Amino acid sequence: MYQSFIGLEIHVQLQTKTKVFCDCPVTFGDEPNTRVCPVCMGYPGVLPALNGEAITLGYLLARALNCRLSPVSSFDRKNYFYPDLPKNYQITQYYQPLGRDGFIDLEFRKKKKRVRIHQVHLEEDAGKMIHAGDMSLLDYNRAGTPLLEIVTEPDLEIGEEAELLLQELRRIVQYLQVSDGNMEEGSLRCDANVSVNHRGEGLGQKVEIKNLNSSRFVRKALTWEIARHQEILDRGGTVTQETRLWNENRDQTESMRSKERAHDYRYFPEPDLPPFRADQPFLEGLEERLVELPAARRARFREQWGFSASQVDFLCDQKSTADFFEAVVAAGGAPDQALFWLAGDVRKLLKRSGGDLLTSPLTPQRLAELLDLLARGRIHGKIAKQTLEQVFLEDRDPSAIIHERGWKQLSSREELLPVLERVLEENPLPVEELRQGATRPLGFLMGKVMKATGGRAEPAAARTLLQELIEAPRRVSSVQVLSFGGAIAGTRREDGMIEPGDLVSLAELFQADPELPDSILFEELRLGRFLSEEITPADWATLLVRIAGTLDQGGVQGIVIAHGTDTLAYTASLVHWFFADTPVPIVLTAGEGPPGEGSRGESGENLRRAVLCAASGSAGIHVVYGDTDFLPLNLKFERVDSGGGNSFRTWNPEELLRSGSSLAPVARGVEQEELTRCLEEVLGQTCIVRVYPGMRGDILVTLMEAGIRCFVLEIFDRGTASLREGPFSLRNALIQGRERGVLFFCTSQQEGVVDFSGYVTAHALWREGAVPMGRLTTESAFTRLVTAQVEVLCEGEARSRDAWRERVLALMED
Ligand SMILES: [Zn+2]
Repeated sequence: MYQSFIGLEIHVQLQTKTKVFCDCPVTFGDEPNTRVCPVCMGYPGVLPALNGEAITLGYLLARALNCRLSPVSSFDRKNYFYPDLPKNYQITQYYQPLGRDGFIDLEFRKKKKRVRIHQVHLEEDAGKMIHAGDMSLLDYNRAGTPLLEIVTEPDLEIGEEAELLLQELRRIVQYLQVSDGNMEEGSLRCDANVSVNHRGEGLGQKVEIKNLNSSRFVRKALTWEIARHQEILDRGGTVTQETRLWNENRDQTESMRSKERAHDYRYFPEPDLPPFRADQPFLEGLEERLVELPAARRARFREQWGFSASQVDFLCDQKSTADFFEAVVAAGGAPDQALFWLAGDVRKLLKRSGGDLLTSPLTPQRLAELLDLLARGRIHGKIAKQTLEQVFLEDRDPSAIIHERGWKQLSSREELLPVLERVLEENPLPVEELRQGATRPLGFLMGKVMKATGGRAEPAAARTLLQELIEAPRRVSSVQVLSFGGAIAGTRREDGMIEPGDLVSLAELFQADPELPDSILFEELRLGRFLSEEITPADWATLLVRIAGTLDQGGVQGIVIAHGTDTLAYTASLVHWFFADTPVPIVLTAGEGPPGEGSRGESGENLRRAVLCAASGSAGIHVVYGDTDFLPLNLKFERVDSGGGNSFRTWNPEELLRSGSSLAPVARGVEQEELTRCLEEVLGQTCIVRVYPGMRGDILVTLMEAGIRCFVLEIFDRGTASLREGPFSLRNALIQGRERGVLFFCTSQQEGVVDFSGYVTAHALWREGAVPMGRLTTESAFTRLVTAQVEVLCEGEARSRDAWRERVLALMED
């Protein structure tokens, strides 16, 4: 078992107008050697002068990284010769840096991690050397640009942690406006030191990887390098101390030079610059420039609005998004709606227009106005989407657009009456059926009304008025019952076997039920004749699109899904990940036999309770079975006896978050065929594997070769599995998976929590890249994984494997 140690040296280019010791402007992409002067070119006899803004920004970042700030910081000369360094020495800080002993807190795989910062110091950048054929060209425009170097202790263990640290640092410098944090343009660059050793034996032989200019390369280079060290140690060899470079074309690190001995830079104090004194007014000025940092803001957003980790990650990644969100809320927008729209349609429209929130025509006031119109029922979801698109195109207020186009929802009697009367006149037959007490034609007529108004009729108002005009039996609540296969919708053959069938008519079933209020209107929809175990991706797509359509159109009090027993745990959690923020109850229920059996039978009883629950108006996803209302996550069905004692049970119920919003705002808006295609693709690349003693690890490799990109590994108790050398070890599969960009998520076979804390093998699993799913069961983790991947597919942004991987991981981490 090995242990790895990673330390980073990160260079942050400070966002100043001029260079650190002269007045040359700091710009990117200018004609070579046009932004230079005698000072930054190192002419003899010139005097450097310290840029006050550079040192302020430097101290500010050191302060934000929790460093002990030096009351006096001084500059030193680091002597070496290199063509890109015209002075033959670099002005840096060696004896008295800006700050020491800081830290940055990360949260990785549900574990908090504190990475210590050794020191933070200010220095000047060198020029740029460009190799062209057999010539080397030099551009000194960059020489003298202020750089802040952040040196961490070797507290990181794997590439992913280093990547996370860089990403968090990028957010911090952007929040503080210390740097633009743009890695592509070189504003954030990094060298990494890595060493691997047998566990418990301390640091190993150190290797340096230089010039990593993206957080992704940092991760890939470190992952590759750690594996290289382990291989050498496995063979009994020794790692050579050297400097290596990441070759992004070949996806590997390559030796650059071996480090015979440490350089002697002959540091000595810079005689031309006086030490800088950080006096009281200066320090007070720093406090004034501090802002709420990303970690604090994420924590506050979670606390204040009950958002999940991935939701606050989205909102707080860019300060502009977080500011925008808070401005929408301050302008009266509901927080969960603001998040929903920002993460869904707004993000999509920004992507399409290629702009960002700050410069887009959408202002917080305009989004708040749109949400208000929606909340007050002046428009419904579809119109809101259209309006938002027009805001982006026309740069005008939503209300003006809606007014001009006549998109206002029709909800008053005066507006609806003429339309409804015409629809009734044109459809005498369904009207007659309704008068006789049938319920189904109401849906048909509502469809006609929607068509006649171009979707502008407010569904609830139209429905009420329709019933009033027809003088149908008065009904208050309307519940949509979706029959989704299973024994509950099956029939029993003569030989006693159950086969798929249609749910018997609910109207029949509940007729003359004294306990059921006659104010409930049923609308039945049969989504399929199959048994629970026969569900296909297309069936799930049908169900999800139907629910989305009903929620979009509004007008129902609740939705009931009659489902098979065996797979209900999957569908219930899937529906949760898609529709957690449903404004009306979505109730799943099941039964072990057809509902018509016996006096009404257990299935009939469950259905009745589900309908009552749906009519009760308590928002969220419910699973009703027997007399219990379960959470939709972590369900287990238990057959305890042959009698009536069978029921569901919720695993780890006390820990389950009632997450307030859905994981899939974009996927919810797609058409049925598209969703079917997505689900089929996703299920084709996702696999659950239950780990058992003697399982050969290379089975997983075979599955990867067959196209599996995501695994849910059901492992032992607290996240353990064999990592011992040999064919039964998972290690090779994890390493190969990492190289192929395959994702592993772990759940527990026991009723425990996958926390990777107690055992060496658990820790190693985590290090090799397996993501613990905490307290989620396999079914709930699996459906979350499916939903996350469908969302990423529908967003259509993550085309590269790396981008896909990152986005799926973000949606999985909570
Ligand atoms: Zn200059």
